[in-house]
Amino acid sequence: MIRDMIRETFPVGLLQCNCTILGDETTREAIVVDPGDDIPGILLRLARHSLAVKHILITHAHIDHIAGAQELKRVTGAPLLYNQRDLPLVAMMDTQAEWLGIATPNVKPPDADLADHATIRAGSLRADVLATPGHTQGSICLHLTDHGLLLAGDTLFAGTVGRTDLPGGDGPTLIRSIHTRLLTLPDATLVIPGHGKVTTIGEERERNPFLQLA
Ligand SMILES: [Zn+2]
Repeated sequence: MIRDMIRETFPVGLLQCNCTILGDETTREAIVVDPGDDIPGILLRLARHSLAVKHILITHAHIDHIAGAQELKRVTGAPLLYNQRDLPLVAMMDTQAEWLGIATPNVKPPDADLADHATIRAGSLRADVLATPGHTQGSICLHLTDHGLLLAGDTLFAGTVGRTDLPGGDGPTLIRSIHTRLLTLPDATLVIPGHGKVTTIGEERERNPFLQLA
């Protein structure tokens, strides 16, 4: 049975990364995606809904998405998962912190790999992992088929696509990932990007200038 889902998406940190909390209304189990910063604020929202964190998921290991993850893990005891192909980015967290002019966050290897086709569950919620390399080697999207929802990380945005000029980025790979893994989803799928406003797969297929085939 598909139960209603609690969903909160809100920007955190300097670069306004979209953090998302997904919760099962009955079991009160939750998934937190991309807790880049403002862990007290995230904990407050969880408490307001009486949610217990079951998994902490990271769409890719850029500092604005992963910086708060270790602290959230420490407080909640929930495992931290991301794709291990982003471990080179974790190894250069000092450099990433320099880009932003902030202190280097404590970031560790994942408790488990967020590999392509993996399924993450919290109560009745089910999120399927889609490997979408391009913005980074280990970038993934999370597809909640039952709810017609896609958490796209920095792979796809409203009207644009993720940048590929940072270490590990690759333009043709990114476009291929979007065409083969994301534009194959139903038009009505609601897309929550890693930054900025929500969109839909149909809207981006029709209007995104970076996705028009010649
Ligand atoms: Zn990024």
